[in-house]
Amino acid sequence: MSEWNRHARARTRGVVINPEDLSFREWPERAKEAGLTTIALHDSRAGATIAPILEREEGQRFLEGCQRLGLAVEYELHAVCDLLPRSLFETNPELFRMNDAGERTPDANLCVHSEQALEIVAEAAVRVAKTLRPTTGRYFYWGDDAAPACHCPRCRDLTPADQALLVENRILAALRTLDPHATLAHLTYAYTLIPPSQVRPAPGLFLEFAPGGLHCIEKVEGDASLGTTDRSVKERYFELLDANLEIFDAGQAQVLEYWLDVSAFAGWRKPVTRALDWERRRPAFALDLEAYRSRGIQQFTTFACYADADYVSAFGELPLAEYASAL
Ligand SMILES: [Zn+2]
Repeated sequence: MSEWNRHARARTRGVVINPEDLSFREWPERAKEAGLTTIALHDSRAGATIAPILEREEGQRFLEGCQRLGLAVEYELHAVCDLLPRSLFETNPELFRMNDAGERTPDANLCVHSEQALEIVAEAAVRVAKTLRPTTGRYFYWGDDAAPACHCPRCRDLTPADQALLVENRILAALRTLDPHATLAHLTYAYTLIPPSQVRPAPGLFLEFAPGGLHCIEKVEGDASLGTTDRSVKERYFELLDANLEIFDAGQAQVLEYWLDVSAFAGWRKPVTRALDWERRRPAFALDLEAYRSRGIQQFTTFACYADADYVSAFGELPLAEYASAL
């Protein structure tokens, strides 16, 4: 690993965008000028929507720009639904999760007590990594977005985070046959906000804390939408972070926030009809940063999805320099 990569791994200051956002062609230049270290591309299809765009002109331009400017490129992916093809359900329902009603279902995730399912997922993760190779050695293969875990008789005593760790430990071992220095994120979000209690993370798994989906695990009083500025809700997220930091190293942990996330702000609807309310978010951003720093966290990234060419031409650029200089 180069000196530069070690630095990038030690202290990420990043943004996470969708591949479609590369229609704003100056993403690498703007990120570099702002002082960011990393741009990650994000989808919910294990990279299936990213790979074709990277082959096109705008994708090539992005990769070349990042390389020229010394920016790290990563891929943050909801992945399980594609790593374990849903088409296998018809012939092999035992690979898939059981719902509360005791029925196998291909709606999301997998049965972590299926050896075959784990093997398929790990092999598929390695295949994806051959195309979407992060420059940092840090990989992100998350469970399906805010989706429940397996409730079969063998899995049901494991928390969703325990189940995620079983999958992640397996994926990391497989990735290391390709990339010996690979590390892998354990996403703490929605069902996996509750820390694991029975499965230990393998060395090389790091915490990625995304404060969203609280309603999946408990009744919420207040605004729990992504990017909330509600301090009482945020304090609850920090309690859950603290519980996770009893298991994961804060020095390696990464926060994945929604400070600049146009997509959630716009309700995931395009065209976006108003500018991100940064003025209103700024005080919460400062408080959040202080809370994370006081816990020893040094690595920060934020979703900035939907800041594409249309958004920038309608509302101007995101405040990347202000964001980056505060980190
Ligand atoms: Zn199961």
